[in-house]
Amino acid sequence: MAKDFLKDLGDHYDVIVIGSGLAGLTGANVLAKAGYSVLLLEHHYQLGGMATWFKRRGGHIFDISLHGFPVGMIKSCRKYWTKEIADSIVQLKGIRFENPQFSIKTTFNRDDFTKQLIEQFGIAPETVEAFFDFARSMNFFDDQSMTTRELFEKFFPGRSDVVRFLMEPITYANGSTLEDPAITYGIVFSNFMSKGVFTFQGGTDKLVLQMRDELEKNGVDIRIRALVEKVELNPDRSVAAVWVNGKRVGCGAVLSNANIKSTIFNLVGEEHFSPEYAEEARAVRLNNSSCQVYIALKPGEGFDNVGDLLFHSEHSGFDINAMLSMNVSSRTFSFYYPETRPGSDRWLVVSSTNANYADWAKMSEDEYEREKAKLCESTLDCLEKYVPDVRQKLDWLEASTPRTFEHYTRHLSGASFGTKFEGLKVSQTLPQQVPGLFHAGSVGIIMSGWLGAVNYGVIVANELDKHLTATAARKRAVAV
Ligand SMILES: Cc1cc2nc3c(=O)[nH]c(=O)nc-3n(C[C@H](O)[C@H](O)[C@H](O)COP(=O)(O)OP(=O)(O)OC[C@H]3O[C@@H](n4cnc5c(N)ncnc54)[C@H](O)[C@@H]3O)c2cc1C
Repeated sequence: MAKDFLKDLGDHYDVIVIGSGLAGLTGANVLAKAGYSVLLLEHHYQLGGMATWFKRRGGHIFDISLHGFPVGMIKSCRKYWTKEIADSIVQLKGIRFENPQFSIKTTFNRDDFTKQLIEQFGIAPETVEAFFDFARSMNFFDDQSMTTRELFEKFFPGRSDVVRFLMEPITYANGSTLEDPAITYGIVFSNFMSKGVFTFQGGTDKLVLQMRDELEKNGVDIRIRALVEKVELNPDRSVAAVWVNGKRVGCGAVLSNANIKSTIFNLVGEEHFSPEYAEEARAVRLNNSSCQVYIALKPGEGFDNVGDLLFHSEHSGFDINAMLSMNVSSRTFSFYYPETRPGSDRWLVVSSTNANYADWAKMSEDEYEREKAKLCESTLDCLEKYVPDVRQKLDWLEASTPRTFEHYTRHLSGASFGTKFEGLKVSQTLPQQVPGLFHAGSVGIIMSGWLGAVNYGVIVANELDKHLTATAARKRAVAV
């Protein structure tokens, strides 16, 4: 008989969290620690959302999005998760750029970038300092009309090489482009520049399993293979319940970690929102998607240290369309050494490229398989430059595409980094439309990525806490 993933489910919870991405997991933990009964529903068989991993024959473990995040993750994990989780976060020191304009190795922090900009690119020290100070001073409440292109033009006019050095890694990190508001660049770039790039030693599997243990310790009822089909509202438009795998579960509030557009249009339904809000939500642009190639070497086979993160490009300058093209000319290689998972004897490489969903969605199955094989082969050709004889050492090779990301995370169009900037306002004002319905998850560029998602989960959990406290106070007043 098929396993019932909802066995012994309660019929009412204070909070139901839809989705177990980093924002959903963190929101659930904060609310459970505040004393609420929390149900966490995840459609996939594994927790983590984009922060996930998979295993393949021969004991290989591939991480999907463990490439690098800013130092702020240590503080957030210590405060909202555990000291044990925070203590596993370590710095990656070998960040490389290899492209027709320059070849650079950097620790990716302000000191080293200042040195590179002055010595390699010949920029005046006062300009470099002014740029860093300006970027660091940017915050959410600033003027949002300046674009990233205008920001670079202000400090480094006509310098496509400098733009590439400053922008390429951020485009890989969150899909942002030169046309996005400069604050989205300034905030994310400055987060990285404060101390460099960090990773979780032990791999995503260790992190997410530690998070699961902590959630269980705090009393969260976790259900996997639990697809939420609908959020049911009361006649006054407040949240009443969710429907999951055909079952109704009542709740005081919902925290949706599903894509903001699917939350509004698929889980609730447009008819429950004001026409103006629905229009604004419809206009929110999704961010792009990704392709990845996963490469594992035979046990014990390795390569010399070639860095941790390598931004490789054959394209003449920074060009977002070239970065998204099926005709791949730019890739980010993440090199995983045995130290990534201490005790292991595995060297692995994950190659990531930004990608357009539409390019992959329209293919027939045959064409799709052919294009994936082509992507794998061209990736190996490129990797040979850094890992000689990689084909002889190879034990596992496979690719994922925007279709893969859509399938596993249910993000519309497989969006890797949520939505463009306008998604943030729509996410934040959701509870004004449907009392008791909150959203936390990749939106607005600044709330995406590992750190953005964790922090947004905390911010929204605090808002949800205020809502439940106020609702309880109103009920008490009525009872008296
Ligand atoms: C290829 C790639 C590389 C990346 N690299 C980095 C990196 O190096 N550094 C970095 O900081 N970030 C990186 N990111 C981005 C980062 O992983 C994400 O921004 C972050 O993990 C998103 O978290 P989230 O909370 O928004 O939720 P998501 O990860 O989007 O998870 C949402 C969850 O909700 C579930 N769900 C959706 N609908 C339903 C439903 N109806 N019922 C039940 N469950 C549902 C999904 O299954 C999923 O588990 C990368 C992303 C990708 C794709």
